[in-house]
Amino acid sequence: MISVTTESLLKPYISLNEALLNTPEENKENYKSYINPNLAGMLSLLGFDKSFTRAEGMKVWDSEGSTYLDFLGGYGALNLGHNPPKIYEAIDKVQHFPNILQVSMNGIAAALAKNLAIITPGDLQYTFFSNSGAESVECAIKMARAATGKSKIIYCQNSFHGKTMGALSVTGREKYRTIFKPLLNDTEAIEFDNIEKLESALKSRDCAAFILEPIQGEGGINVPHDGYLRAVRDLCNHYDTLLIADEVQTGFGRTGKLFACEHEDMVPDIMCMAKSLGGGVMPIGATITNKNVWKKAFGTMEKCLLHTSTFGGNTLAAASGIAAVEEIFNLNLCEQADEKGKYFLLKLKNLQKMYPIIREVRGRGLMLGLDFDDKNKVLKKVSNEYLGALVAGELLNKYKIITAYTLNNPNVIRLEPPLIVNKEEIDYVLNSLENILKYNKSFISLALGSTKNLISLPNRLMRRSK
Ligand code: PLP
Repeated sequence: MISVTTESLLKPYISLNEALLNTPEENKENYKSYINPNLAGMLSLLGFDKSFTRAEGMKVWDSEGSTYLDFLGGYGALNLGHNPPKIYEAIDKVQHFPNILQVSMNGIAAALAKNLAIITPGDLQYTFFSNSGAESVECAIKMARAATGKSKIIYCQNSFHGKTMGALSVTGREKYRTIFKPLLNDTEAIEFDNIEKLESALKSRDCAAFILEPIQGEGGINVPHDGYLRAVRDLCNHYDTLLIADEVQTGFGRTGKLFACEHEDMVPDIMCMAKSLGGGVMPIGATITNKNVWKKAFGTMEKCLLHTSTFGGNTLAAASGIAAVEEIFNLNLCEQADEKGKYFLLKLKNLQKMYPIIREVRGRGLMLGLDFDDKNKVLKKVSNEYLGALVAGELLNKYKIITAYTLNNPNVIRLEPPLIVNKEEIDYVLNSLENILKYNKSFISLALGSTKNLISLPNRLMRRSK
């Protein structure tokens, strides 16, 4: 047997035990040298270069023993908080099962699929398992094309569905797309929350599907007007187009319902899930559809293996999924998100009235966004739209609160804490925000007062994001 030893490699191989003992500086150096030098630079400049060594529930600890409150929630992957014990218990229970054995019918994955059919809206029935949000979208696009025999996919401006080539082709941010063109052909972007624009796009009746986030996450936490989701459903029915709901970020209680579609009793033909389905521990993606679509897309012996994934439906991820959903119900997290979200939103709107630097407060449940706007044109130009990052930097460095801006809209800070957050923690964030706004009436003083002077950030870095 060949074993990799320190001696047998040109550069010393780092054992896990050694990696655990690495200093923060060694970690930073390895990240910079072997993962992404520019991202490392940007994180350092913004003060996001802590070495985090422990996490539990709402809290994260750095190597110096400081405690932070996590109001970012893993971009929606941590509805249960960090390292929920129930998920590790589930993993323990199946640790002696084969984790990956494709030539078998995995009973744990089948049980999770049955559960998903029960908890998702309407007649959604068959689930394809993958490993991420983008993969769940890839599957949805292929399903829609295979089921309809049509190729056109309509998507929304400002949408975010992932960065693999298919998902990127229906993601509405030019910055992420340009350099990779040509993307998937026959896709068309329309305005979000505009039913007339959707109707004119669908009229040609040549569309396989319309893909939609019921609430846009990375676009800046955009909630459509009441009635939009139902109107979308009706139009898709009328023009014979499949409706794909991307619930990757909105799913599993985040918006105050188990799925955001339920706010309007909207039943999609295909639904994408990921993030919190893994309980914040295991990567998992899932695409569920109804019998009719499944039958047309993959419903023969010849077609049933058209789309596959090596790790999709592995035992550990499926067991985590079963436990995650159970825990969301046991802890009443949908109700909690609804109740705490209403409280948080109200208080944030009060802040907005006092500080016009907050242009708008938006969101539903515990998926909230603060849209910042500095009237000062000079700073606006210098900071190149990264006003949200300034506030996020202050929250982190002065108040030990973790937040981040939304990917498509860097002026928006997202507040998406784990759904287990308590009122005192919400109040602490509100007070901290108020302190920041009180002492920084404009972003000029914020930028100048920042521990890392963001005005000095090279434009090169400012143009980058995650
Ligand atoms: N869809 C939505 C709505 C998302 O918010 C995201 C990620 O933020 C994705 C898809 C992509 O998920 P992943 O990063 O797991 O590929």
